[in-house]
Amino acid sequence: MKEFDLEALVRPNVLRLKPYSSARDEFEGEAEIFLDANENPFPTGYNRYPDPHQRALKAVIAERLYLSPASIFLGNGSDEAIDLLFRVFCEPGQNRILSCPPTYGMYTVSAGINDIAIDKVPLTATFQLDMPQLERYFSSPAHKIIFLCSPNNPTGNLLNINDVREVLTRFPGIVVVDEAYVDFAPAGSVVELLSDFPNLVVLRTFSKAWGMAGLRLGMALASPEIIGLLTRIKPPYNVNQVTQELALEGLKNDGEMGEMVREIIQERGRLIESLLGLEGVNKVYPSDANFLLVEFAEAKKVFIALRNQGIIIRDRTRQVKDCLRITVGTPFENQRLLRCLELLLLPDISIH
Ligand code: PMP
Repeated sequence: MKEFDLEALVRPNVLRLKPYSSARDEFEGEAEIFLDANENPFPTGYNRYPDPHQRALKAVIAERLYLSPASIFLGNGSDEAIDLLFRVFCEPGQNRILSCPPTYGMYTVSAGINDIAIDKVPLTATFQLDMPQLERYFSSPAHKIIFLCSPNNPTGNLLNINDVREVLTRFPGIVVVDEAYVDFAPAGSVVELLSDFPNLVVLRTFSKAWGMAGLRLGMALASPEIIGLLTRIKPPYNVNQVTQELALEGLKNDGEMGEMVREIIQERGRLIESLLGLEGVNKVYPSDANFLLVEFAEAKKVFIALRNQGIIIRDRTRQVKDCLRITVGTPFENQRLLRCLELLLLPDISIH
């Protein structure tokens, strides 16, 4: 690949910045008495600030992923990492980014918050990268980041790894591969490409397979240089103590996570089969994630009718024509959904 000059991509103010130095940065060791951080001295269980560098948690994650802790950024959800990537690399009002819709909406929202223009190169009919269209941007220095999502939300499919490699090789900026749903996919993580591509940032989250959406914990995995930049500009205590402790505990119980993922994948298969047998279902897209994109003959009506029955799914008709996105639930929840759909979609009963 071409020579990669990371500093040339970074906003000058970020390079110049002297990061905030917290009390916990300035003294790291063991001591008997801490009177340095203006904390409340009485032990509530939470009276101390958490480790700003999340050392214990990063050590365990590093081991699992065969990475150095210096290649791991932890944030308040992966949404925080998305925002920080904008703030490291994109000059408001000047730079642009690329995204490939239909995809996760937060890339556009974060771009808007940071006043960054976004050029959209839609996925092909099979929801893969449109390489000839993307190529037009491979010589554009204005485009600092391209966001790829694999498996993609809301379409559910993995992106073709050869296309991702080609983007990594030829796009001059940062290539973000959002792997929020990769634990539900048979293969296809690009984490092992980190050592080959200094412009790669992989996003992961504890919100899906790990079942910790309420804790708010996400990761960016990248070169120590890129992780260093994210760390420079993050709020010092961006991952709270409870989250750090409970995530550590959860990581120890990875058998439980594996069990949940297996069950979700099994249910995904059953749901696909049952949905395909229903009258008003035109298409169920294949899924490498924990949700299904389903095309209905009358999507809006189905969406509203399910809502009226207390079953909430996601209306994606504006992103993909006639499509609703259904998260795979527990066997009980999926059964309820299917029963409601069966009744709704009976050919001779009109939907209200
Ligand atoms: N990326 C994708 C593709 C997602 O679908 C989501 C959540 N829906 C996120 C990132 C955000 O995850 P987190 O909960 O870690 O902020």
